[in-house]
Amino acid sequence: MGFATARLVRQRAGECCEYCRLPQAVSALRFHIEHIVARQHGGSEDAENLALACPECNLRKGPNLSGIDPDTGETTTLFHPRRDSWHDHFVDIEGRISGISPAGRATVSLLGMNTTDRCRLRQCIKLRTGADLPGWREALLPDDGLQQILRLVTMGELAMSFSDEVRNALTTLIGHAYMGQQALPEGDPIRNHLDSITRNSMRMKGMIDSMLNFGRKREETTDRCAPEELIHEAVRIAGPYLEDFKHPPIAVQVDVESECPKIAVTRWEMIHVLVNLLTNAADAMSESQQRLITIAAHREPQAMVRISVADTGSGIASENVGRIFTPFFTTKGERGNGLGLFIVRSTIEHHGGSITLQTGDSGTAFTIALPAL
Ligand SMILES: [Zn+2]
Repeated sequence: MGFATARLVRQRAGECCEYCRLPQAVSALRFHIEHIVARQHGGSEDAENLALACPECNLRKGPNLSGIDPDTGETTTLFHPRRDSWHDHFVDIEGRISGISPAGRATVSLLGMNTTDRCRLRQCIKLRTGADLPGWREALLPDDGLQQILRLVTMGELAMSFSDEVRNALTTLIGHAYMGQQALPEGDPIRNHLDSITRNSMRMKGMIDSMLNFGRKREETTDRCAPEELIHEAVRIAGPYLEDFKHPPIAVQVDVESECPKIAVTRWEMIHVLVNLLTNAADAMSESQQRLITIAAHREPQAMVRISVADTGSGIASENVGRIFTPFFTTKGERGNGLGLFIVRSTIEHHGGSITLQTGDSGTAFTIALPAL
C-alpha cells in the first residue's frame, strides 16, 4: 500500500477509528490501516476496501467478515465502514456503544467495544470535551487533559527505561559498598557510612522495582494475598513519604483481624492502591494537629474482606465528594495529577470489588470491599 493511499485513508476517517470512533489523538499507539475484507479472503488493496482502525478493534476483528448478533444468536455480516453509515448501526450512550442493528450488535460484541477500559476512556473524553461521538476530535483542545494523558504515557515510557539504568547502577553501588565494608576492620567508623549507602540504595532499588512492576502491568495474574502482608508492605513503601511530616509526626496504626481471609488480587497492584490511599491520607492531614492513619482489615459478611484507610484530616468538602474518583480531578494543585484515585477505583473494580468513602470534620475513611477466598 502506498503512502498516498495510507494518507487518504487516515484523512477520510478524520483520524478516528472507523469502528469504535476513538480519535488517534488520544491514543499512544498508531492506528492501523485495515482491510475490511481481509487479504486471505481476496480483499483488495483498493481504498474502498480499507479503513482506519485502532489497534484494539483491528486485532479483535482479525480476518472475520461476520459475527454473531448476541440478541438473536444469528450469524450476520459485520459493520462495513465503506458501505454502511455508523449512525445506522451504533449509538453512543455515556461512553457505551450499543449496536442498533444486527450488524452493529455483532460488531460491538466481536470487537469488544465496551470493555471497562474502553468505556472509561470514552467517558473521560466526553467529560473533558463535553462532546459526544463522533465530534471528539473537533472538540479536543490543544491543552486538554487528554494531552496530559499522552504526556504521562510518554513520560512513563521514558521513566521506565531510565529506571532500568538507575536500578543497574544501584546494584553496582550496593555491591561495591558491601565489598568496602568487608575490607574494613570491625569498628571502623567508615563502615557506618558504607552501611548507610547500602541501606539507602536498597530502599531506592525497592521503590524502583515497585515502579517498574507497575509500568509492566497488563499481565492478568492474581495472587492469593494475606491482607496483613499487603498492608505491611504498603506501609513500608509509603514510610519515607509519611516520615516527611513532622510537628507532629504521623502515627500509623495497623489493625488486622486475626485469621482474616486471603484475597485474590494482583499483589503489586493492590500494594499500589494502599500506598496511594496512605499518601493521600497523609496529605489530607497537612493542617491537622493530630495525625493518625488507621489501616485495618476485617472479614465481612457475604464472604468479603474489608480494608479501610482512615485519617484524622479535615475531611473532603461536600462539593468535592462526588468528583473524587473522576479522572483529572485533584485538590492537590501542582502535586496531584488527578489520576491517583481514578486508578485506585479501576484497580479495585477490576478485581471484583468496590470502594467507598465516608468523610466529615474528623477525617476521611476509604473502605475497600473485596471477595474473600
Ligand atoms: Zn476502534
